[in-house]
Amino acid sequence: MDNCIFCKIVAKQIPATVLYEDDELLAFNDINPAAPVHFLIIPKKHLSSLADAKAEDAVLLGKMLELAPKLAAQQGCAYVEHADGSKSGGFKTVVNTGPNGGQVVYHLHMHVIGGAEL
Ligand code: AMP
Repeated sequence: MDNCIFCKIVAKQIPATVLYEDDELLAFNDINPAAPVHFLIIPKKHLSSLADAKAEDAVLLGKMLELAPKLAAQQGCAYVEHADGSKSGGFKTVVNTGPNGGQVVYHLHMHVIGGAEL
C-alpha cells in the first residue's frame, strides 16, 4: 500500500528497530512506547485492520500470536509459572481496531507491552 507507514517499514523505506523478521511477519519497537517494553508485530501483507482479515489469514494471525510470547521473553517479559504454583512476568497484547478501538495506523498490528505492572 503506497501511503502505509508500516508497509514502508516492511520495505525498509523508513527505519525501525527490528526485533524479528521472516517471510510473513515483522516485529519492531513502537516509536512511542507505553512501557519499558513495547513492540509491534505486523504481517508484511497489508491488512488494514483485524476486521480486514479473512479465513485464509487465520494461520498468519496464529503466527502473530505464537510469536508474541517468544519475543516478549527475549525482551525480558517472559511469563513464568513456577513449580510452587506462583506466576511472574508476562505482558499485554492489544489489537486496536477502527476509530472506536483507538486504531491510528491502518495496517494490522499487535502491540506487545510489558516490563512493568500494567
Ligand atoms: P494504534 O493506535 O494501535 O494504531 O497504534 C499505532 C502505533 O504505532 C502507536 O503506538 C505508534 O506509536 C506506533 N507507530 C507509529 N509510527 C511508528 C513508526 N514509524 N515506528 C514505530 N512505531 C510507530
